[in-house]
Formats: sequence, C-alpha cells, structure tokens
Amino acid sequence: MDKLITLDHVSKHFNVGKHQTLVAVNDVSLDIYRGETLGVVGESGCGKSTLGRTVMGIYHPTKGKIIYEGKEVNVKHTKDRFAYARKAQIIFQDPYASLNPRMTVGSIISEGMEIHNMYDKAKRQERVYELLETVGLNREHANRFPHEFSGGQRQRIGIARALAIEPEFIVCDEPISALDVSIQSQIINLLKKLQEENGFTYMFIAHDLNIVKYISDRIAVMYLGNLVELADSDEIYHHTLHPYSQALLSSVPIPDPDKEAQKQAKVLTGDVPSPINPKPGCPFANRCEHCMDICRKETPTLKEIRPHHFAACHLDLK
Ligand code: SF4
Repeated sequence: MDKLITLDHVSKHFNVGKHQTLVAVNDVSLDIYRGETLGVVGESGCGKSTLGRTVMGIYHPTKGKIIYEGKEVNVKHTKDRFAYARKAQIIFQDPYASLNPRMTVGSIISEGMEIHNMYDKAKRQERVYELLETVGLNREHANRFPHEFSGGQRQRIGIARALAIEPEFIVCDEPISALDVSIQSQIINLLKKLQEENGFTYMFIAHDLNIVKYISDRIAVMYLGNLVELADSDEIYHHTLHPYSQALLSSVPIPDPDKEAQKQAKVLTGDVPSPINPKPGCPFANRCEHCMDICRKETPTLKEIRPHHFAACHLDLK
C-alpha cells in the first residue's frame, strides 16, 4: 500500500498552568495510506480531534514528525509545509460555528482558492458554482449567507469549502454529530461518493462506532491521548484485542437480535484519569480488569500482535 502520511511519535501538549501540562496526544505513530479512510474512535476527550488538527497543521506538534509523501511538513514556514497546506483540508463538526456568518457562501468557498492564488476571479466563480452542484446545492446559493441554510446544507457548504483547493487528504472531524439522524446518512453517502470519484484519503473522527465501521477501511482506537489499537475495520470488530477497545466495541448493537440478546457487554468502571501531568504506566490501568503490577509502572508500546493488527498492552494477546 502507498503511504500518503506518516505520523512519527507525534505528541501535542498544552500548558494549562504553572508546571501543569495537558497531554492531549501522546507519542502516536501510524501511517495513513493513499485512498483509504482511517477511522479514529474513542470517548470524548481522548485526543482524537486534537490528533486530527495536529495532522492538518492547525496545531504544531510538541514532539514528533508529520511526513507527507516522504517530506517532513511540520516545520513552520517551509515550502513543503505550504505545499501540504494545499493538499490537506478539514471538515469541522459544527456547521453552525465553522462558517463566517458575515460572508456569502460564494466568498466562503472561494477564500481558499484566493489564499493559494488558484485561478483568476472568473474561474474561481465558475468553480464555486461547480462545487455547490457537486455537494447537492445549486448556484443560486452562492449569494446567500450561512444563516439561510439548514444544518445539513451548512455541512454541504463546509464540504464544498474543503474541496475548493483540490485536496488529497481530508480530516473529517465528527462531521455528522451535530446533524439530525435523518441527515447524517446523506452526508456520509456524499463523502463516500466524493471519495470514489476523486480518490480522497480521509481521517474520519467520530464517537459513533456504527458510522465509523460503515465508512472506515481501518480503525484507530484512542484512549487518553494514546493510540491503543489499530487494525482493519473487520479485523478490529471480529478480533478485538485491547481491553479498552473490547469495552468500547461491546457497546455497539449487533443487527442480529439473537446475537444481541446473548452478547455480554463490558461496562467500563472507574473514572477517566486526568490528562494533566499523567503518571507513567498504562493510561487504562485504573479501569482495566486485567491490570497487573507492570501496567502501573511501564507504558505499553504499540506492537503488531496479528498481521497488520497492532495493540498497546502488556497482556499476552495472541
Ligand atoms: Fe490493562 Fe495492563 Fe493491558 Fe493496560 S497494559 S490494558 S492495564 S492489561
């Protein structure tokens, strides 16, 4: 498979007070392959959105490297970073907050093209009309303002904005969680169709595991800023290895009523530890029914347990 982006030991910390550091993303290494959808799941506050924004370049990583097509792109003000900025885009969770209410839809969509000096004014206008039609809106919408649209339509505008600079890689940061259930499948199907037509690579961040399973080729599970499991979508659902992933995935309803009735859901107990000045050891130790002495002392690293299936745990998981 063709690697598009590599995260090499990427961490993102925030200073939140005197000698207090919030570790939002801790030492994450993974590859993102061209044309795939990598789902990123985990509970609220697990660092998945911070990871997406760091990969995108919105946040600068505290440690580690982001490598795009073999070149490091996390060094500020470099030619490679600027080139990457043209190839990576993001669709935000909240279509209400992410669109400037004072700009027309046409200006919102064409802004990225202007920043990157793409096309002359007439061609940009033509592209705006094309993009509106691509996402299921129409050219008359270009002169309207965001407040004149529904939530689903605003997310379509957000998608058109992301497509405007002809990206290769798109971070979809919980793009449907603020939408009505009836609209969610329309947006998911639009994203899938656009991927088939354009070969986009997606990082799809979500907490709805059914949606992630539906759209993702591979799934990364995060807990307290750490990547704890990574595998193909079917593999991770059928051979879940990490105790945290087992608890998370056991809460997903099975479509077969008999199997659903027999299922023994694992209930997570204990509180999520604070991400501020975290202690050494496994981040899941205080909630794990298998916790051993070593788990409180040494942080487990991600290892390949089955072919292309990685987990970070001191248990013998084979
Ligand atoms: Fe549980 Fe230990 Fe594995 Fe962490 S390393 S998930 S505490 S068994």
